[in-house]
Amino acid sequence: MNLSAMQKRCLAEMGIRVWRLRRDGGRGAAAGPGEAAAAAPATEARPATRPATGAATGAATNAKAAAALAALGKEVAQCRRCPLHEGRTQTVFGVGAADAEWLVVGEAPGAEEDRQGEPFVGRAGKLLNAMLAAIDLRREEVYIANILKCRPPRNRDPRPEEKAQCMPYLERQIRLVAPRIVLAMGRVAAQALLQSDTPIGRLRGQRHELPGLGIPVVVTYHPAYLLRAPHEKRKAWQDLLFAVQICKEV
Ligand code: URA
Repeated sequence: MNLSAMQKRCLAEMGIRVWRLRRDGGRGAAAGPGEAAAAAPATEARPATRPATGAATGAATNAKAAAALAALGKEVAQCRRCPLHEGRTQTVFGVGAADAEWLVVGEAPGAEEDRQGEPFVGRAGKLLNAMLAAIDLRREEVYIANILKCRPPRNRDPRPEEKAQCMPYLERQIRLVAPRIVLAMGRVAAQALLQSDTPIGRLRGQRHELPGLGIPVVVTYHPAYLLRAPHEKRKAWQDLLFAVQICKEV
């Protein structure tokens, strides 16, 4: 792949000198989840595979998924399942294309996200955008969500009971978007998605699957961590290349 000037700028921003990225775009018919949602109404789930039959059918399916996501967003906005609702300015549901092939999962909203109602809009979000651009993805093309929809006080780690209450929303988002690949940003997202307590260093560099859904998951460092530990950006770049490779194989 020839890197555009924009991609080179993004890589430079990530502190990475240009490597060759081989990618065919990872486009094509996407495999979606194969099982019905436990917590979601049956009408919410996409078909097990995205329709390969013509643009009209695909557009209708996407419109349905987008409408179901919007309805789910309204439901989440009313959520009082855990005490975090008391401190929020607003819920931070998720953003992006309903038919996205890449689903990016972070931990929880921070102060800026709580203010704006959108995930990854602060400094970490800027780095995330650069990371995506480095693999030729625009933010608008992917779907971005968090494990928690409300900001924990002082950005502390999500508690087990908060994750337990909030994860069913993310699972419904994942079933609706039916991505080809999930990119887990950071330890909290990776461990929650994979139902694992393995350290992030050992979760990286492997192709995981979402339990029950079979969608591939690649784990990388959280952009906020990369801002604090820029020497790790090179490993994050390796993770992104690995994810691109997996997306091509799906
Ligand atoms: N960090 C996250 O994990 N998610 C956000 O939305 C913002 C920062």
